[in-house]
Amino acid sequence: MKVVLITGGSRGIGAATAKKLAQQGYAVAINFKSNHHAAHQVQKDIIEAGGKAQCFQADISEEVQVVELFQAVQTHFGPVTHLVNNAGALTKQMRVEEMTAERINWMLMQNVTPYFICAREAIKQMRQSNLVKQCAIVNVSSAASYLGGANEYVDYAASKGAIDSFTKGLSLELAAEGIRVNGVRPGCIYTDIHADGGEPNRVDRVAELLPLKRGGTSEEVANAIVWLLSSEASYATGTFIDLAGGK
Ligand code: NAP
Repeated sequence: MKVVLITGGSRGIGAATAKKLAQQGYAVAINFKSNHHAAHQVQKDIIEAGGKAQCFQADISEEVQVVELFQAVQTHFGPVTHLVNNAGALTKQMRVEEMTAERINWMLMQNVTPYFICAREAIKQMRQSNLVKQCAIVNVSSAASYLGGANEYVDYAASKGAIDSFTKGLSLELAAEGIRVNGVRPGCIYTDIHADGGEPNRVDRVAELLPLKRGGTSEEVANAIVWLLSSEASYATGTFIDLAGGK
């Protein structure tokens, strides 16, 4: 059985991805940090549509909790065969000259270290699976990694730049085993994350500046994630799909 773990599967891009992967027949492990209601709503929607899903609470910025999360998913569904490293965080917009080491380290602990630790735990289970040649990881990076996030969150942009390097490097470490690792780089997508950055209507503000003249949806990002995980993308590894309205 194909078992996918989606970090941050309770809301936004992760929730849209969870629902689409369930439609494709994956058993879906929905990780979330604290929003029980949102996570259980995604689980309910999937089960009512005839799919398989289970919620797993864990703060993935804590290594011990990641290890326990993967153990719990394996006990429930069997070995993880697919991973969507998706959970990420933003905080208040500011310029680099205002940033403290505490803030920068927080950003890296939210957006970089968990992707490594989740991949590490996933790889162990993928090797135990009889589907190892079909196993795949998608890392949710950001267009900010190449745009830079100036005047808003260069630290966040740099954390996503690290994810691009991580994607390339890990893909090369795993290619000979047939485990594929790719990334998506969303631009301005309508989700709650912009409120965490202090500007809930950010997507509407920048929409006119984008070549396609609109923000994107979680479903548009999820479509690319689902494809990269699938056997349709069997010759793609170490690469990226940009979903940024032309930016
Ligand atoms: P979102 O709507 O704010 O949802 C964030 C999700 O991550 C929630 O499910 C949240 O769980 C979970 N989460 C956050 N920190 C966590 C932690 N430490 N442990 C476990 N779960 C955690 O975010 P989104 O916009 O869908 O973003 C998803 C990914 O896309 C992120 O990596 C983000 O950087 C990237 N991205 C987003 C955009 C955009 O415009 N939205 C653009 C580029 C890249 P709870 O529900 O429990 O809080």
